[in-house]
Amino acid sequence: MDEKIYDVMILGGGPAGLAAGLYAGRSGLSVLIIEKGIDGGQIALTHGIENYPGQANIDGMSGQELVAPMTEQCRKFGCERVSDTVSACDFGGAVKKFIGSRGVYQARSAIVCTGAMTRFIGCAHEAEYVGKGVSYCAVCDANFFRDLEIYVAGGSGVAAEEALYLARFGRKVTILHKGYELAASPDIKREIEENPKIRVLFGVEIVDLGGDGLLSEIVIQSVSTGERTVLKADEEDGVFGLFGFTGRRTTGMFDGVLDMQGGYIVTNEKMETNIPGVYAAGDVRVTPLRQVVTACADGAVAAMQCGKYLRKKK
Ligand SMILES: Cc1cc2nc3c(=O)[nH]c(=O)nc-3n(C[C@H](O)[C@H](O)[C@H](O)COP(=O)(O)OP(=O)(O)OC[C@H]3O[C@@H](n4cnc5c(N)ncnc54)[C@H](O)[C@@H]3O)c2cc1C
Repeated sequence: MDEKIYDVMILGGGPAGLAAGLYAGRSGLSVLIIEKGIDGGQIALTHGIENYPGQANIDGMSGQELVAPMTEQCRKFGCERVSDTVSACDFGGAVKKFIGSRGVYQARSAIVCTGAMTRFIGCAHEAEYVGKGVSYCAVCDANFFRDLEIYVAGGSGVAAEEALYLARFGRKVTILHKGYELAASPDIKREIEENPKIRVLFGVEIVDLGGDGLLSEIVIQSVSTGERTVLKADEEDGVFGLFGFTGRRTTGMFDGVLDMQGGYIVTNEKMETNIPGVYAAGDVRVTPLRQVVTACADGAVAAMQCGKYLRKKK
C-alpha cells in the first residue's frame, strides 16, 4: 500500500487525465496519475491530427507530438506518475482507493479518465492499415478522404449516422453490414436510402485487407454463400477509406459502483459522478463528442471541481 494520501488521483494518462493533472497540479493540489501504458492514451496511436485548436503544426502532427507537452506540463506542476494497471476501486470512505497490480493508491478525490477503446473490425491485416486507410473516427479522419471512396463497417445507428457524415466528404460511401437491416431509427434509415452517395451491402463481412502501404483492397465474404469478392480502390485514387463502427468498450471496473449508461459513466456538467469526490472525464463518460479537445476540457473541469470539493471538506 502506498501510504501517501494525495489530494487527487487520476486514473488514465490520456488527454483527459493529463489535462486534469495539469489543472490540479497547477492549483496546488498533490496529484498522482496512474497509467498502465504510455501517456497520451488513444491519441498516441494516431499519426495525423489536424483538429486540435492551436496545435503547433496546423498541417498535421502525430498524437505523441501533441501530448508530449501535456506530459511535461504535468511534470512541471508536480504531478507524480505511476505505471500500473488498476483492476478495482474502493470509493466507500472519505479516502478513495484504486487497487493496482503493484499497489493500492489513495486520495481524497478521484478522477476516472480511462477512455473508451474502439472495437476492431476483426479482419485479417487490420492493424497494418490503421492510419493508412483504416479509421474508427469520422470526425477525426473524414477530411483525409475527400472525394475518395469510403467504406463503413457496421450496421448500428452510430454506423448509419457516421455514414451520413462521411458522405459529405467521400465521392461514394458503401456500408458493409453482416445483417440484413440497419439498426437505426426510421428517419436515419430514410436519410440513408435517399442519399444518392450512399449504398448498403447487406449480408457481407469483411475478412481481409490489402494494399501496397495504403489500403486499396477490401475482401468481403457473403454470410449466406461464403463467396468472396475483392473491392479495389480506383487506380487513380490508389487508396480508399474504411471506417469501423463496430462498437466501443470501456473498462467495466465501475459497473455497479458508478451510475452507468450504455457502458459509459454518467456525470453532470461538473464531471461529478453519483459518488461525492469521484469524477469522470473524457471518452469514458456519457458525452456527445469524443475528441482530444473535449477530453481536455472535461479533465480541466473535473480537476477544478476536485479543488472545490476538497476545500469544502476541510
Ligand atoms: C486512431 C484514432 C485517431 C483519433 N484521431 C483523433 C483526432 O484526429 N482528433 C481528436 O480530437 N481525437 C481523435 N481521436 C479520439 C481521441 O484519441 C480520444 O477522444 C481521446 O484520446 C480521449 O481521451 P481520454 O483521455 O478520455 O481517453 P484515452 O485517450 O483513451 O486515455 C485513457 C487512458 O487510460 C489508461 N487506462 C485505461 N484503463 C486503465 C487502467 N485500468 N489502469 C491504468 N490505466 C488505464 C489507458 O492506458 C489510456 O492511456 C482518435 C482516436 C483514435 C483511436
